[in-house]
Amino acid sequence: MGQIELKKVTKRFGETEVIPPLDLVIGEGEFVVFVGPSGCGKSTLLRLIAGLEDITSGTIEIDGQDATAVGPAKRGLAMVFQSYALYPHMTVRKNIAFPLKMAGMDAAAINAKVTAAASVLNLTDYLDRRPGQLSGGQRQRVAIGRAIVREPSAFLFDEPLSNLDAALRVNMRLEITELHQTLKTTMIYVTHDQVEAMTMADKIVVLRAGNIEQVGSPLELYRTPRNTFVAGFIGSPK
Ligand code: ADP
Ligand code: MG
Repeated sequence: MGQIELKKVTKRFGETEVIPPLDLVIGEGEFVVFVGPSGCGKSTLLRLIAGLEDITSGTIEIDGQDATAVGPAKRGLAMVFQSYALYPHMTVRKNIAFPLKMAGMDAAAINAKVTAAASVLNLTDYLDRRPGQLSGGQRQRVAIGRAIVREPSAFLFDEPLSNLDAALRVNMRLEITELHQTLKTTMIYVTHDQVEAMTMADKIVVLRAGNIEQVGSPLELYRTPRNTFVAGFIGSPK
């Protein structure tokens, strides 16, 4: 579960082609980072995969099924938003439970899933607090918890740490990497931060103006950047 394949996917906003024809395979269980400068189309690409935007042409397959025919709720993917997307008036428990409640799950099943997610995320002692009573890192974990309970086949993160200070960012990077090792679920992680890409990814997709400049492991990109853009972006000496 969690194999995602993009075939000749394009996206146009009005006259502007933001994503030219793009092919990409994301393997089951991979941690893939989309990296590139601001405005290069990272968020758009993630939103196309999530189904939050419609593609202009091409196909997106999730586990071999055409995803473009189904809306975001049916794709089995969970988008993790920045921690400020939490409901401030709800407790941590209710924030995490929210998507399950919306889906009509019964209270006992919801409780079991929230308890399990809180345990994985070290939030067990904070379930009755409200977001305002938590640290930035804890709030980010609640946002991830809200995705975990849905047991998605892939997690999609759009710059989830950009609100956090530098020290906390380093911590959360490690926590998300550990979470990936625990859950072994496909993760797509968008960032403009080269260090995040190099330290977190199994596979990095370097984007420039909607084009894939190179795909490879951090080591491959560092050792054999295809061009000066990749070299400059990744920080290798070419
Ligand atoms: P990134 O996440 O890499 O910073 P985005 O995917 O947000 O980049 O944006 C890529 C390009 O698409 C930008 O030029 C942006 O202005 C444009 N864009 C994004 N969303 C829309 C939209 N809804 N309507 C028009 N243009 C958009
Ligand atoms: Mg963006």
